[in-house]
Amino acid sequence: MKKGQIVEGIVERVEFPNKGIVVTEDGGRVIVKNAIAGQKVSAVINKARKGKCEGRLLSVLEKSPLELAEAGCVHAGECGGCTYQSLPYGEQLSMKAAQVKKLIDDVIAPESAGYEFLGIKESPRQKGYRNKMEFSFGDEYKDGPLALGMHKRGSFYDIVNVPECQIVDADFRMVLSVTLSYFKERGIPYYHKLRHTGYLRHLLVRKAVKTGEILVDLVTTTQMDGVCRDNFAEAELLEGWRDALLAASCDGMLAGILHTRNDSVADIVTNQGTDVLFGQDYFYEELLGLRFKITPFSFFQTNSLGAEVLYETAREFIGDALTDKEQPGTGAESEEQEGGKTVFDLYSGTGTIAQMLAPVAGKVIGVEIIPEAVEAAKENAELNGLHNCEFIAGDVLKVMDEIQEKPDYIVLDPPRDGIHPKALEKIIRYGVPQMVYISCKPTSLARDLEVLQARGYEVKKVCCVDMFPGTVHVETVVLLSREQK
Ligand code: SAH
Repeated sequence: MKKGQIVEGIVERVEFPNKGIVVTEDGGRVIVKNAIAGQKVSAVINKARKGKCEGRLLSVLEKSPLELAEAGCVHAGECGGCTYQSLPYGEQLSMKAAQVKKLIDDVIAPESAGYEFLGIKESPRQKGYRNKMEFSFGDEYKDGPLALGMHKRGSFYDIVNVPECQIVDADFRMVLSVTLSYFKERGIPYYHKLRHTGYLRHLLVRKAVKTGEILVDLVTTTQMDGVCRDNFAEAELLEGWRDALLAASCDGMLAGILHTRNDSVADIVTNQGTDVLFGQDYFYEELLGLRFKITPFSFFQTNSLGAEVLYETAREFIGDALTDKEQPGTGAESEEQEGGKTVFDLYSGTGTIAQMLAPVAGKVIGVEIIPEAVEAAKENAELNGLHNCEFIAGDVLKVMDEIQEKPDYIVLDPPRDGIHPKALEKIIRYGVPQMVYISCKPTSLARDLEVLQARGYEVKKVCCVDMFPGTVHVETVVLLSREQK
């Protein structure tokens, strides 16, 4: 196969996250992204090196027998947010479980070969499951009308309006459509990523499942002057937007309407100052009976009901290790708080895992890099009446050197890139008998598991949790243990 050649073939399987393995008519293999197992597709080869070919999907010639007659969302295919809206939920689950199992089996050491693979737990909700969405402003096509939604699949610039987005509920869709019409009617320009001009950047919407509280944050540049058709004053413009949202009806309750300024060149939501236009700049969500205050920029699992399943799975894995049931010990010790185990919750976000474990631990120490999230974690622990939690702001890599305490148990929940190799080394050196690793990206997990196994840890149990129906993402919980010397 040569670069530029057009090939046809059947998708044999899909590897994480969206790599379709296409077998062509002459038996060749090409990796084609965003295809579904069983589809007949055509693709153009864009990379052909050392017998490894990659192609770009041109069209789906025949649907897969696995696919639904009609996709679960009208935006499917065009919208870059979801990839598997055309697959029945059961198929999505078995595909994700198989992808994770393959990645782990590929790196499993002989000592861990007997590990227990517990399959995948489903998301309690398959639609409207998200508690947070970051929509982007842009145009539908070059110099087209203002759009507010998701990036078009495979496009850096084009934005697809997603008025019927299925992974959020009706309140998100209301906020989205009210906001888009409001700014479109007034001819307010979006921030152009190449030219660095314009005003509207992102719309952040968060809604708690348990409390129904909604937080809306409009992210703009500070380049308001002179860019508006009618020369609106900024304050007046934003107040008008706020009033339009307040006048619309919703099922939940608007807890806060915010405006954040961001002039950075990177296309991410960062905070350079936030004004409260209405209400407050935080809201509350509840997980497993605990209450959490969440601020706009702190990490919080985006599927609240799914997070309960995830944390329960982690808690089951940790199980008796903390309560010392397996090693009855002195008895006197276990009755006394002080004698309990010390747990490190590394990459702790708003401290959800730490607080879930606090009642069965002597002490929990959370480490998290975003200071705002650490503040929220402290407040949350107080709110939940937990007095044995400590939260430290900083990079896990650095904090490991400064901490005096030694852990008896470690829970790891790193971001997508996994654990920094040097941080992983320090974590391993504590030599705790057991660890739970929660991963939001199985390829990073597999890489880290190789290191952990090489350094004496065995993989005991693996369970996937689907927190992101319709999309390529999957969460994995792993129980690791090591022989005590
Ligand atoms: N355990 C939490 C958060 C997991 S997400 C929960 O379940 O809600 C991963 C978290 O790691 C994020 O909050 C991110 O801000 C944080 N993080 C990323 N890199 C880090 C680092 N080097 N040191 C400490 N925390 C980090």
